[in-house]
Amino acid sequence: MELYFTGLASVYEPEHVARIFYPGARPARHRPAHGADAVYLHGGRRAVLAAVRCAGRRAACKIPLVPGASDRDAEYAVCRGLFDLLREFTGQNPPWGMLTGVRPVHLAHQLLAKGLSEQAVADHFETRDFVSAGKVHRVLEIARRQQPVLALSRPNSYSLYISIPFCPSRCSYCSFVSRTVAQSAGLIAPYVEALRRELAAIAALARRLGLRLETVYIGGGTPTAVSAAQLQALMQTVADEFDVPALREYTVEAGRPDCTDEEKLTVIKQMGATRISINPQTLSDEVLAAIGRRHTARDIIDCYHTARRVGHTSINMDLIAGLPRDTAAGFARSLQGVMALEPENITVHTLTLKRASNLVIDHTPGSYGDVQQMLAACSVLDGAGYKPYYLYRQKGTLENLENTGYTLPGHTGLYNVFIMEEVHTILSAGAGGSTKLVGPGGHIERVFNYKYPAEYLRGFGEMLARKQKVEEFYGKFADLDPQTSG
Ligand code: SF4
Repeated sequence: MELYFTGLASVYEPEHVARIFYPGARPARHRPAHGADAVYLHGGRRAVLAAVRCAGRRAACKIPLVPGASDRDAEYAVCRGLFDLLREFTGQNPPWGMLTGVRPVHLAHQLLAKGLSEQAVADHFETRDFVSAGKVHRVLEIARRQQPVLALSRPNSYSLYISIPFCPSRCSYCSFVSRTVAQSAGLIAPYVEALRRELAAIAALARRLGLRLETVYIGGGTPTAVSAAQLQALMQTVADEFDVPALREYTVEAGRPDCTDEEKLTVIKQMGATRISINPQTLSDEVLAAIGRRHTARDIIDCYHTARRVGHTSINMDLIAGLPRDTAAGFARSLQGVMALEPENITVHTLTLKRASNLVIDHTPGSYGDVQQMLAACSVLDGAGYKPYYLYRQKGTLENLENTGYTLPGHTGLYNVFIMEEVHTILSAGAGGSTKLVGPGGHIERVFNYKYPAEYLRGFGEMLARKQKVEEFYGKFADLDPQTSG
């Protein structure tokens, strides 16, 4: 499917609307050949002509423009007209309507903060963006559940993200900057040492600024891809440089059982982590093989029991709906299998097709299971006591669906809420790390680390110097109220 848009001030949002119905549709530089599958928009002064042709069928409409309307209002009118046309033409009724933002709960918080009632927020989602009543209900439920978590954050709060961008092998759907352990054998030891130095520098910076550390998240990649001794050394640095006993939460991703053993799980526990994540993605051996995992479902279950045996009391498990070779029935079995283990958190992602992933490069499109049915199967979580506590969307997700974190009472993953709702600064260490500085009034600035481990090591000095921006940022808001400091 091609997108041929001409005469418009901006094509970004209309392209998004077209891709809700035709994922992977590409902009065309020239008018598509006669009879080709395409969506057309042609902007004029008083109206925009919209047309679609697909599989020999076609439809068209005229979208009137209100004279004197702002660019924003005109763009919305075009999106809405196009959405109506494609909805009728395809017969699809996307559950998130034409909502483009990746963080609907964040939008709900913003509208509520402006003084809108829950009903008014629901109306906004349903009438402006055609979001289904079920999704709106979910958004508001999560926004309500997040309120006490958001209240924990203070003006001088921050969280710390530590990136270990190595994995035992590359999953087919992954586009992260992770490197396989085999590709990076010589890099891991110097990387861990550099990371320890960066953490010491961040700790000194945070002390100078009087910031209070709320949560730590060691992610990746797969942090347990490094040796137990390296993990121990890294976590020792965290313990030496930061006030670990005062943390509200300390998470380590122990994502894959093919590099997570009893020794590493014990190190994680002994060094003060309060939460781990073991991520099956599926409990089907066939699907695991299809996504490039070199372990079985049995290995995941064994890893989980080992984690319990060494004392982990808060465990998250991730599942992905829509993996290649999976079916709605297969996904439901994976979900039941994970629920039977009774982890404190279950996070259900919808598969996202990322351009840099092997899946997009190698896979035949269109062979994914019924993801809407898979997500609908998650209603059983409620009966088992799991409540949704955070939700976000990504571009390129199958059927434009969402990712949702569920929790048993008392185990909300705080870092996930803090980062998603941008309530405080996230200082990031390691390759691919992105520091997000959050100031009063939602003012946000970013400082990026180098993306790949080799670049990170080569440019380490310059990268540390970039962190100067953190001090400059807080210098602008030097009137932080010390009474709110923790
Ligand atoms: S474990 Fe995660 S980061 Fe590593 S390759 Fe798989 S999806 Fe990517």
